[in-house]
Amino acid sequence: HTCALLAVLLTIIMPSKKKKKSSRGKARKGSNSKKKEAAAQEGTPDKQMERLNIDDDTEVALLDEAIKLATAEEEALESRAIEEEKSSTIVSRQSRTIQCYHGYVPGEDHFIIDNFVKTFLSGFNSLGGETYVGEHINVAHQATREQHPEVGNDYCKMKLVLSLFLFQGTQAVLEGRIGIGDARSFAAVAFYLEDYITFCYEDEANDVFDAVKQLELLIADQHTLVKYLRKNIPCSCLDEKYKQVKSITKMGFCCNENCSLPSRMVERSTMLYCTRC
Ligand SMILES: [Zn+2]
Ligand SMILES: [Zn+2]
Repeated sequence: HTCALLAVLLTIIMPSKKKKKSSRGKARKGSNSKKKEAAAQEGTPDKQMERLNIDDDTEVALLDEAIKLATAEEEALESRAIEEEKSSTIVSRQSRTIQCYHGYVPGEDHFIIDNFVKTFLSGFNSLGGETYVGEHINVAHQATREQHPEVGNDYCKMKLVLSLFLFQGTQAVLEGRIGIGDARSFAAVAFYLEDYITFCYEDEANDVFDAVKQLELLIADQHTLVKYLRKNIPCSCLDEKYKQVKSITKMGFCCNENCSLPSRMVERSTMLYCTRC
């Protein structure tokens, strides 16, 4: 009887023990298979490898296609960048940093003006530093006459060209680029263009091109440079800069070929400065 009871008890206990064990085992198995299932859905490396093995050629072809697409995209981006560089204008190239156009009003013929200025500048900068400033201007003018005759013969367009040079000069000063090739060149060209526009469209009798003043701007001290630009822009963007540089002694260029002064530069206030006889 006891044996039978024991047997019953055992059958009750044992299966439960077994059940526990097996259920634990099942649970482990279950979580394992769940992991596998999830992995299969995600496409584990194992699975991918399997697929690669199964359909190697297709995979390689797809990979090739992907590389081709990426290369094509890269090339498209590159050529777009080149196009943008080509079509980018002086103002748009700097637009991230500019807050004011300093009197330049880009209109519909924005690109024409821009190209004229670019051509003029590359002509102006193409000669070595030793050359007489008038030579730079001649070369620059010749280049624009050939490439952009529609601008040189148009009063309104030339006025825009002038204000684009003043914009560039002002912007260069504000950004600390005051050397030759930067603010000083822009100012010297702007000054020349003023004379040119006056002569061509406003007063034919006024054919005096002040080459000394052009040169003085090209090699100007900061006071002379900032004063000239500030006087010719309608905004107050250079007011602060002018306060900083107005104590610098203004220098002028001596016209005496046998002048003994260094670089023939003289304190402006001591000069007999003829603005126009
Ligand atoms: Zn301004
Ligand atoms: Zn002298």
